[in-house]
Amino acid sequence: MPVAKTKAKTQSAKSSKTPVYKNFIGGKWVASKTGETFENRNPADWREVVGVFQKSDARDVDDAVNAAADAYKEWRLVPAPKRAEILYKVGERLIHERERISQEMTREMGKILKETRGDTQEAIDMSYYMAGEGRRQFGHTTPSELKNKFQMSVRQPMGVCGMITPWNFPIAIPSWKIMPALVCGNTIVIKPATDTPLSVANFMKVLDECGIPPGVVNMVTGSGRNVGEPLINHNEVKLVSFTGSTEVGRTVSSLCGPSFKHSCLEMGGKNAQIVMDDADLDLALEGALWGGFGTTGQRCTATSRVIIHKKIYKKFVDAYVERAQKIKVGNGLNEKIEMGPAVNEGQLKTVEEYVKIGQKDDGAKLLCGGNRLERGDLKHGWFHEPTVFGDVHHKMRIAQEEIFGPVVSLIPVSTFEEAIEVCNGIAYGLSASIYTRDVNKAFTAMRDVYTGIFYVNAPTIGAEVHLPFGGTKATGNGHREAGQAALDVFSEWKAIYVDFSGSLQKAQIED
Ligand code: NAD
Repeated sequence: MPVAKTKAKTQSAKSSKTPVYKNFIGGKWVASKTGETFENRNPADWREVVGVFQKSDARDVDDAVNAAADAYKEWRLVPAPKRAEILYKVGERLIHERERISQEMTREMGKILKETRGDTQEAIDMSYYMAGEGRRQFGHTTPSELKNKFQMSVRQPMGVCGMITPWNFPIAIPSWKIMPALVCGNTIVIKPATDTPLSVANFMKVLDECGIPPGVVNMVTGSGRNVGEPLINHNEVKLVSFTGSTEVGRTVSSLCGPSFKHSCLEMGGKNAQIVMDDADLDLALEGALWGGFGTTGQRCTATSRVIIHKKIYKKFVDAYVERAQKIKVGNGLNEKIEMGPAVNEGQLKTVEEYVKIGQKDDGAKLLCGGNRLERGDLKHGWFHEPTVFGDVHHKMRIAQEEIFGPVVSLIPVSTFEEAIEVCNGIAYGLSASIYTRDVNKAFTAMRDVYTGIFYVNAPTIGAEVHLPFGGTKATGNGHREAGQAALDVFSEWKAIYVDFSGSLQKAQIED
């Protein structure tokens, strides 16, 4: 997947007023050693340059990791409740900055303001939640099998954490990684997606202003190859936390493997909403529309498949298509707009490619959409119609592969058992949902759908920060972000035994 917006058509709107952003290393904003930069353009109007960013390389990564390694010596010794006080301040500050940060996020990646406000809100929620963990991070004490012996388990930080993030949740996802890492006592180097470095720069500024000591958080911008890989490969980096495509996640995993470096991988999804014949159809319809076209379908948890019982298939499909066609597409800064553009030209082309695959190779029925939008001002952005395929067989490529755009496949099934089988019959395992009034079916689905997240009578999107987030199969490598589970990613357990008997006691050995 291309990581930079296409520059070919983009000559005009860079002016002397265009802000230039630097890397954030050791508490200072510094230019890259390469002396090169890249442009960050607005996907709703690519004539606008939102900012100019550093095109960094391994030398900048080295500086940032060294700064983080230095800062770790002190930060790990700051009491966790004191670290947490800073996180609390970050939450407060983000509330004051929420509107500006959200407006800038819409300008850099296109999703509508309501959603970018929600994105920033997630970072606020995560700051407060992890601030609370400063006074928890509970371990266990447990009786010993021997006399006069005490034992407990404690969490210990790991050191410098490398973080590589995608563009679809530009501040929420960095916060899911940064906040638990900080409260556990680690230091950080983050490489944001090249489409959304501004949101992470805004986050760095807030962290800095709230009193995070120099070197504890660092940001280096640039490509996956030139910044991401050196970050993963750096000896001082003890853990890599990655969110992005399964393809790149596999690379991250293979780079970490030889040295047994920890990696936490949050990857792709192909999420399904099941609609049973006894469902509240209006509710199911609202859920499938929000899940399918929210964030222009560019959510890892997007409802890209709707599995519908044949008895209500026609009724549901007619209503779904009618509503999908009415979705207002445009610049997300306009409060009346319901769906923004694709994040960049590469993503738009992927969507166009899958529309062709759906029609020609798969032979699915295109029920609405299918075209790029170029009327009026939309021609300056990467807009695509909300697109719906009907009579989709669950083995078709459009029903199996992650498209990451406003394309939804409607799949008819005859029974509840078939719905579960189709839901599970993909490589990914992030999120799924069921709409039904039958409590037995709801509980059976809760048990039998093999995903990391499951909803009943709600869409496949809408996770909250205090429960574990992540997926099974090709979506993840067994870790979870958010909730207390995130602490397990960013700390290691240490079991401590204290023998106060004054003699050598031997566990498991008979005298
Ligand atoms: P991507 O994999 O293209 O890029 C993710 C990050 O990896 C970017 O910062 C990119 O620059 C970097 N990168 C690329 N190549 C690299 C390399 N060789 N070495 C190191 N870093 C490299 O993904 P994207 O297009 O930014 O985001 C979309 C994908 O992210 C989708 O597949 C989506 O499902 C997934 N996603 C998953 C979750 C989740 O929690 N499971 C959440 C959001 C997005």
